[in-house]
Amino acid sequence: MPPPASTSPAACRAASSSRSDRRPALSDPHPPGAGAPDIHPPGRDPPSRDPIEHLIGLLAKLPGLGRRSARRAVLRMLMQPDRGMLPLAAALREAAAAVRPCGTCGNLDARDPCGICRDPRRDRGIICVVEGVAELWALERAHVHRGVYHVLGGTLSALNGVSPGDLTVQPLLARLEAGGVSEVILALPATVDGSTTAHYVTDRLAPTGIIVTRLAQGVPIGGALDVLDEGTLAAALKARRAV
Ligand SMILES: [Zn+2]
Repeated sequence: MPPPASTSPAACRAASSSRSDRRPALSDPHPPGAGAPDIHPPGRDPPSRDPIEHLIGLLAKLPGLGRRSARRAVLRMLMQPDRGMLPLAAALREAAAAVRPCGTCGNLDARDPCGICRDPRRDRGIICVVEGVAELWALERAHVHRGVYHVLGGTLSALNGVSPGDLTVQPLLARLEAGGVSEVILALPATVDGSTTAHYVTDRLAPTGIIVTRLAQGVPIGGALDVLDEGTLAAALKARRAV
């Protein structure tokens, strides 16, 4: 995962000192939709496409980044283009050229097979099925799964037009037919679509005779019972175990 943007004291001071500059200030006096701030020297026509606003617009489309956060990030980079902006541009170009889906599991990596599939310490007998790469990376961050993965590419959804043909169930069956797999863990979301998908995959895998398991549902770590919804409480009670 990429490291967070620099938050060095020097960078913060540099960003804060911009309030007296002609550049837009961190406090963002221009609310979203109010138009671009006037950053051009008086008496000179602005370019047809403002590169700063164009960059802010691109970053604002990223998940987790609204226009205000994108403007702050752009301002931070513009303060030190050699240290912030040019390395980022080079890293974006390098990642776009090198990163591809793993031909085995669907993870994103610069190598194929990916680092997880190539790792000799991983247990290839246990395949954890996830909806997407984000869920795979989340499980990796938790260091809880020492097997390998299979990215399904979504969950079945009549509303969103996702049908079985859109998922990588067939490649999963091909992996199982190759042998050596003893368990498939369905780590799918606890939603209606996730549950529908889990049932579908379970049915498709039944003829293989391989053990199919699902993640437990219940009380989260640190969670108080009186704030949980009825569905979570019911699932926790149903999944109770001896202590
Ligand atoms: Zn892989």
